[in-house]
Amino acid sequence: MFEQRRARAALLADQSDAAREPLQFAAALSNAQAQSMHRFQPVSLSGHLENDVDKIVTLIHPILEVIAQRSDDAKQRLSDEVSVAKTRLKAFWSENHHDYISRALLQPYVALLREKNITPDRVHSRGHCPFCGGAAWISSRKSASDADGGFRYLGCSLCGLDWNFGRIACPACGEEDPHKLSNFSSDRHPTVRIESCETCRRYVKSIDLTLDARPLPPVDDLLSLSMDLWAVEEGFVRIEPGMAGM
Ligand SMILES: [Zn+2]
Ligand SMILES: [Zn+2]
Repeated sequence: MFEQRRARAALLADQSDAAREPLQFAAALSNAQAQSMHRFQPVSLSGHLENDVDKIVTLIHPILEVIAQRSDDAKQRLSDEVSVAKTRLKAFWSENHHDYISRALLQPYVALLREKNITPDRVHSRGHCPFCGGAAWISSRKSASDADGGFRYLGCSLCGLDWNFGRIACPACGEEDPHKLSNFSSDRHPTVRIESCETCRRYVKSIDLTLDARPLPPVDDLLSLSMDLWAVEEGFVRIEPGMAGM
């Protein structure tokens, strides 16, 4: 998965002037995550971060080094004592605390748990990933009909699972009233739309895969960050930031 993301991000970075910087970052991040996942392979994991954190905390450090190249917060975390680094990871894990850096550090760990079918000990709330409880950072559509909610998928920001969200509803608050749910699109990005909810003022970005199945939604997301800027100006908050932390 991380290798696919790296390759897609590198390809798009060569084709896009506007989004080159975040795409190059996504390629470097995915590369570091692929290598971390490789280093985890021989480690025996339980799915309980409390037990596993000692085994993984040094193996994920190269991911932090990549993020530190563009984030002052990550740069400061490079000099964390190991005990502090572990506490940050455990806080993200148990509280679903918004922490883009811990999320990126733990993605290879949870992706490997999923590959090995080891259940992570995380809280699963409504609208979150059925495997790991992670928040949706992207949505995709695999049917041309808007009425057909059965073809709507949410993408997990932690383990990378795409799960079928078989209904038209806000993933954040569960609102189902169609008058409260709006879609916004832009001529510049015809396959992308912002799916927003008036009730909780959150949104998820959705990518249409019906005409072209090549996009990798978490990576292709970075081509349309201008739509996120627009949504934020309109007063919406993204349910979960994308790969570049936006
Ligand atoms: Zn997940
Ligand atoms: Zn909502």
